[in-house]
Amino acid sequence: MENLKKFYIGGEWVEPISTATMPVMNPATEQQIGTVAMGNQADVDRAVAAAKAAFESFSQTSKAERLALLDRLMEATKARFEDLAQAMSAEMGAPITMSREAQADAAIGHLQGFIDALQEIKQRETLSNGDTLLREPIGVCGLITPWNWPMNQIALKVVPALATGCTCVLKPSEHTPISAMIYAEIIDAAGYPAGVFNLVQGDGVSVGSAMSRHADIQMMSFTGSTRAGSAITKDAADTVKRVTLELGGKSPNLVFADCDLEERVAGSVQEVMYNTGQSCDAPTRLLVERSVYDQVLDIAKRTAESIQVGNPAEEGDHIGPLFDRIQYDRVQEKIQTGIDEGARLLTGGLGKPEGFDTGWFCKPTIFADVHNAMAIAQEEIFGPVLVVIPFDSEEDAIEIANDTPYGLAAYLQTGNPERAERVAARLRAGAVHINGGGFNYGSPFGGYKQSGNGREGGHMGLEDYLEVKTLHFG
Ligand code: NAD
Repeated sequence: MENLKKFYIGGEWVEPISTATMPVMNPATEQQIGTVAMGNQADVDRAVAAAKAAFESFSQTSKAERLALLDRLMEATKARFEDLAQAMSAEMGAPITMSREAQADAAIGHLQGFIDALQEIKQRETLSNGDTLLREPIGVCGLITPWNWPMNQIALKVVPALATGCTCVLKPSEHTPISAMIYAEIIDAAGYPAGVFNLVQGDGVSVGSAMSRHADIQMMSFTGSTRAGSAITKDAADTVKRVTLELGGKSPNLVFADCDLEERVAGSVQEVMYNTGQSCDAPTRLLVERSVYDQVLDIAKRTAESIQVGNPAEEGDHIGPLFDRIQYDRVQEKIQTGIDEGARLLTGGLGKPEGFDTGWFCKPTIFADVHNAMAIAQEEIFGPVLVVIPFDSEEDAIEIANDTPYGLAAYLQTGNPERAERVAARLRAGAVHINGGGFNYGSPFGGYKQSGNGREGGHMGLEDYLEVKTLHFG
């Protein structure tokens, strides 16, 4: 934890220029578990200068050299796997079993996806007109990540930067600095040249904004709220940076009467509550064919009530607390909004579950009889809260599904394969999960509309970090 009060710049753990700090809290115990240094513009300048200097030589490395470094990164990541899992469990409340199986696993899964993609990607090709096309690293990249899937987001940004020959400055969420610090130690252990990867901790307003405005950063990759994504885009406009954004979601889940209701509805409810509802692509709007509406409500209620809330330090498939008091208050406010709007509270509701006075625990909650125009159907809640909306026809379902500013993911439950294809083609979302199909490492991830632009992971995730140069030979 020594390095939490330092930044990793130019291949060393250095004393910050800023003297500001912030406590790091465990959301289950409400106890302070560390103190993180909070950087400023001068810290950013120093990190960017190190990344700019390192770009000169790192951008000229061969694919084989970078693949060898990624193999070392894989070894170093595996060696610190348990530390990553424990850190995320303590700093954002992910139950330890899930923290290992999903949160920490993402560091390895995405890395493998990028190794495979880098092996396949053509960095030089000849066009049919005889010209030569080169794909080159874009430059110094500014990477900003959120707290809800800390390692997933860091791996999705840092690994493609390193894989393509870019250099980078990472600013993780100020709420999850421990896992980011460990990841910097992992990169150091892998033997990356000094300045290729740099870590500055801090908040969005000072460190994040200084990065977005920095003249020597050529690209910003951001994951977080639509609000911050919009602010970064504006900050980056004066220096005409490339900006890729992975933002919020309010993903629809269309349940047709012809699916295996018991299995698919239970699976859907569990997916909403997973990570205590703090996933950008969670299927938070359950759209249900009216003929099976009551049956679905019954299954959904039973499923939500069977979900255990528990201590994240203990093994098991329970859900943990929300990541912080801020999030607990936001979720309570949204539940109150649902009640005020006249939605029917099917299960859960305001307050903490019985026996949980300490910690930011929240009840798995379902609202029925919701209209898509209600705030709880339009706004991201980012907690274990599901809204259920009936529909009358396939056309009606598609219209409700697309009636949102977001377009990150959509989910579809049907026993009819032709309908699955037909409906999936009309859903305005970056991914459609059919009958429980899950995400695979190496596939692109990203959204339509206000859920962002660009795609992370695998081939497309590498392309975001590459510039294209054409050689015209005389
Ligand atoms: P947030 O936008 O508040 O913060 C995310 C990051 O941005 C943090 O590091 C924060 O310090 C930084 N930041 C905040 N304001 C900034 C600014 N003006 N300039 C630069 N940086 C700034 O989001 P959060 O609360 O940490 O995360 C939750 C949000 O992230 C949700 O909206 C969720 O949907 C979204 N998310 C999206 C994806 C995706 O891939 N689409 C994945 C995970 C989370």
